[in-house]
Amino acid sequence: MSFKVNILGVKVDKVNVNEAADIIMEYIKAKDKPASVFTPNSEIIMMGYRDEEFRDILNSSELLTADGIGVVYASKIVKNPISERAAGYDIACATLERLAKIGGSVYLFGSKPGVAELAGKNITEKYQGIKIAGYSDGYFNEEKEKTIITNIQRSNPDLVFVCLGAPKQEKWIASHKNELPNAVYMGIGGSLDVFAGTVKRAPEFFTKHGIEWLYRLCKQPSRFVRMLELPRFGFKVLLKGRKFPQEK
Ligand code: UDP
Repeated sequence: MSFKVNILGVKVDKVNVNEAADIIMEYIKAKDKPASVFTPNSEIIMMGYRDEEFRDILNSSELLTADGIGVVYASKIVKNPISERAAGYDIACATLERLAKIGGSVYLFGSKPGVAELAGKNITEKYQGIKIAGYSDGYFNEEKEKTIITNIQRSNPDLVFVCLGAPKQEKWIASHKNELPNAVYMGIGGSLDVFAGTVKRAPEFFTKHGIEWLYRLCKQPSRFVRMLELPRFGFKVLLKGRKFPQEK
């Protein structure tokens, strides 16, 4: 059995939410390097398929999980199946639960001004024991970016949520990894909005039946163009997916 599935050149770890959170905690406890965790959906895998540099960024992460039913189906098509999806938000919750037990800290970076603070308030209420190392919104110029990096360095967190949307967050983490302190950096898109309560997660009916994309499309019709990647991804995997070598 292999531990990764190669989907159009992007090598996704075959882990569920709890396994992913356990792996993240190992990196946090070791604290011996900056580790990155990305959670690609089919749209992000398509970005990696088209752009070699971005694909390398995804493949060089310490953990890459399948965020989206499309990726799970794709793994079945290439005959190296992942059993279930491991969405970024769910992994973040499972990690916070574990981190709270050891009194660890999380730095919240991304989203519109004020969202991270609101998310922090809800996180400390729900996961008692967690410390918030700091906050920064996700809209910055070069000067503000330097301050953000200094703040992360000074607060020396265990975990950093980087919520700038894809591919910005993955590229940001990869390009600053060398100057960032030893911690786990998770690129988890709109998760701070969900923690803050400014965006609602799809009801269980939608996530259970693999149609969370439909819920998000109804809520944010502007996502329509982005979502055209979904059928393109499906066709590409059907046509070319099996040509990519799978680890034995
Ligand atoms: N965002 C940000 N800075 C930017 C662009 C986006 O902080 O320059 C934030 C945005 O406010 C939102 C998140 O990134 O909170 C992206 O959310 P989206 O739902 O698009 O991400 P996905 O989860 O689909 O990758």
